[in-house]
Amino acid sequence: MTESSELQGFYKLSLEERLRVLKKATTLTDEEVRIVANTGGLPVEVADHMIENVVGGYTYPLGMATNFKINGRDYIVPMALEEPSVVAAASNAAKIARVKGGFMATNTGPMMIGQIQVVNVPKPENARTKLLARKADLLKKANDQDPMLVSLGGGAKDLNVKVLSSLRGPMVIAELIVNTGDAMGANAVNTMAEAVAPMVEEITGGRVFLRIISNLADRRLVSASAVFDKEALGGEDVVDGIVYAYAFADADPYRCATHNKGIMNGVVAVGMACGQDIRALEAGAHSYAAKSGRYKPLTTWEKNRDGDLVGRLEMPMAVGLVGGAAKTHPTARANIKILGVKTAVELAEVMGAVGLAQNFAALRALASEGIQRGHMKLHSRNVAISAGATGELVDLVARRMIEERKIRFDRAKELVAELSKGKKTG
Ligand code: NAD
Repeated sequence: MTESSELQGFYKLSLEERLRVLKKATTLTDEEVRIVANTGGLPVEVADHMIENVVGGYTYPLGMATNFKINGRDYIVPMALEEPSVVAAASNAAKIARVKGGFMATNTGPMMIGQIQVVNVPKPENARTKLLARKADLLKKANDQDPMLVSLGGGAKDLNVKVLSSLRGPMVIAELIVNTGDAMGANAVNTMAEAVAPMVEEITGGRVFLRIISNLADRRLVSASAVFDKEALGGEDVVDGIVYAYAFADADPYRCATHNKGIMNGVVAVGMACGQDIRALEAGAHSYAAKSGRYKPLTTWEKNRDGDLVGRLEMPMAVGLVGGAAKTHPTARANIKILGVKTAVELAEVMGAVGLAQNFAALRALASEGIQRGHMKLHSRNVAISAGATGELVDLVARRMIEERKIRFDRAKELVAELSKGKKTG
């Protein structure tokens, strides 16, 4: 057990010194310290500058989803995540989608919202009118902060002002609408929001507190759609099952949370691989799903006249190619190169298509054989490895557990002991 978590001056130490302090403060063995210290493909100096109190790295498996055709172009899609079945499911869904031409995807452009909160405003409605009257000045002040973005055609484009009734009385919220180009844009927008705040105070006579981007990026939407051939997906009965599954999610938030989680399996895995802020993606997705006041699916599913399945996805997708880890993390840069996307909106479109594919794969499995068969095959290998199986023993133990329908750690341990003994004597 750790005696004290007050590691005085920890942030000032070098990485090696931090590891020494950590080892002393915990029960880590030398081998475990080496494991923690390993940064994989990420140079130590880069890691040390990305976040604080760095001691090492944490590596996820990186897989490539195959078969994706989006807007007529083929993509090999990098996915970084820990969950078995996801990469296989995406590849399989993309293969089925190809039968009818693959995915179509569009976007609304990279518009983000920066919010400036004003309280203690004597006449909120008047303040609203006054702010809108000074729109040009406010936009200019915002754009003066980022000549680079403006030179590329981006920048603050519009101003929206709303009066909220809140727990602490009325407040005025000024919103900068910013085209962030190929950036995710949080830093760019936050800088602009902070810069215009004094002007906002002067115009309204109120006091500004928060100046921050909104992750409900509902002006930065991506849409993806695909037709899934009924024969290729397993027959009209499966189509009906998927349409019923969608109706279930639409009617029930308990199901809908899992429906949308399946979409995010794909979105977040590509986001991770490409150095995106996946917390921003999750926040955007779920707040958008609840925007109507009821939590809704991010996809819709219906049967067309031919009996084929038609899927559509619409969700915020705040991603960037400049700035953040997309720029600093070498593996993220390599993955973006593999994907071959040239703009942030193209990356968003790919991620929307992957989200739709992932949702299709999950619903198809649920509506036919059930999700566990495919899942358990891969899961059983993980259980075998965690029980100590190595080499060919991994598959042997996994197969036995599947045959016995006992995919459990205790059984894996028994099998490892039994089969490795058999191998030694045999
Ligand atoms: P950034 O500031 O590093 O890069 C954006 C800047 O790059 C622009 O302001 C522009 O000056 C320049 N640029 C160069 N070429 C460009 C191009 N083609 N298109 C657009 N801009 C170009 O990064 P960012 O995207 O503003 O911020 C992203 C980071 O902010 C992420 O790491 C994210 O995790 C973090 N963040 C997120 C939140 C949130 O989501 N709530 C809050 C704070 C910070």
